[in-house]
Amino acid sequence: MTTDRTPLAEAAAEARALVRRHAADLGDPVAFLGAQFDAGLAWVHFPEGRGGRGWSRSAQAEVDRVLSEAGAPDGYARNPIGHGMAAATILAWGDDAQRDRYLRPLWTGEEIWCQLFSEPGAGSDLAAVRTRAVRDGDTWVVDGHKIWTSMAHHARFAILLARTDPEQPKHQGLTYFVCDMRAAGVEVRPLRQITGEAEFNEVFLTGVRVPDTARLGAVGDGWRVARTTLGNERVAIGARPEPREGGMAGLTARLWRERPERRSHGLHRRLLHGWVRAEAARLAGERLRQLMELGAPGPEGSAGKLAFAVVNQELSGLAVDILGEDGLRFGDYTMTRPTELAFFGKDPTWDYLRSRANSIEGGTSEVLKNVIGEQVLGLPREPAVDRGIPWKDIPR
Ligand SMILES: Cc1cc2nc3c(=O)[nH]c(=O)nc-3n(C[C@H](O)[C@H](O)[C@H](O)COP(=O)(O)OP(=O)(O)OC[C@H]3O[C@@H](n4cnc5c(N)ncnc54)[C@H](O)[C@@H]3O)c2cc1C
Repeated sequence: MTTDRTPLAEAAAEARALVRRHAADLGDPVAFLGAQFDAGLAWVHFPEGRGGRGWSRSAQAEVDRVLSEAGAPDGYARNPIGHGMAAATILAWGDDAQRDRYLRPLWTGEEIWCQLFSEPGAGSDLAAVRTRAVRDGDTWVVDGHKIWTSMAHHARFAILLARTDPEQPKHQGLTYFVCDMRAAGVEVRPLRQITGEAEFNEVFLTGVRVPDTARLGAVGDGWRVARTTLGNERVAIGARPEPREGGMAGLTARLWRERPERRSHGLHRRLLHGWVRAEAARLAGERLRQLMELGAPGPEGSAGKLAFAVVNQELSGLAVDILGEDGLRFGDYTMTRPTELAFFGKDPTWDYLRSRANSIEGGTSEVLKNVIGEQVLGLPREPAVDRGIPWKDIPR
């Protein structure tokens, strides 16, 4: 690395050099993303050899800007759980063999990841998971029922939270694994959403054998490992640089310009109000990314995710109101199983319907308010009647 350039200029120069060297691969996501990983420009704050260079996170935005302007592929939409959650967890808790095995094909999208956390009785109260993993020599035998598993239908691997010691209090008897979704005993069934699509699934695990080499972190330490995943999930949802033209308010503002006959003082006031809130959320996201320079995402990530949900629901609702009757027509309700995860961008009515999930996925808005109250504002903790009691003795 030369020293006569600022780190951001260095990052931009390296990204331009990557584009020059791999111009022929721009239309081939696996080839280009592989080259990006090998150049250390995938996650620039990761160590060398792991898709990064040990640079500060702020250089990533510069790399992404140059690559996006050059029309380079973006692997996030095809593998959001891999990119947004699994990679940081593997880096933080995996051993070298696991990092070598998983990170590169995750980045290139050759291997898609999903998240086997939520269960019918364990969503907000995630530490209540009942899926059992029982040790059998060098493997673990896993039985359980997971739900709301986005992208499980085309995932190769899953991050899995399972109970390994029911004698321990609920947060202590958990262990974190990587589960091969092609293993015998994994059954994926689609769950249809309000949009008609089945983006998520329920997953039944019956006698699934997971090698101990696929364990992330120590036995019984799964809750700490899961917290790394959850912190990154909230940032991945709430503080991604805004990909839409005009930001979160962009589409709604365009509809406002295109439909002068629908304008009213009330709708105008809502548009300006929404735009101000979208700007505040964007700037808060920017600040959060800067804070993350100092370390792993903290409870502030919950505020970013909460703000994203509120503003996106507000603005997508306003878009439907601007469209009037047209906003109530939803052309195609055929069940599809998408291979990319999108929060918006298909049509305004789809955006409105999909945005209902924003206040549930990655932690509900109510739960995030609890996190902010307790961990940011220092308010008293919610009472917990099951603290310190062995999990097996907690009434269910
Ligand atoms: C689109 C989508 C994709 C998802 N993808 C995945 C995935 O890939 N993998 C995965 O593991 N999970 C996934 N989830 C699940 C998601 O994490 C859970 O739905 C969420 O954590 C809420 O859990 P729950 O559905 O069990 O609701 P519950 O926890 O039963 O909550 C029900 C209601 O009670 C409220 N509530 C619960 N506890 C409290 C409290 N302490 N204080 C105040 N209010 C409370 C909640 O806010 C909510 O309104 C996805 C969900 C959605 C909508």
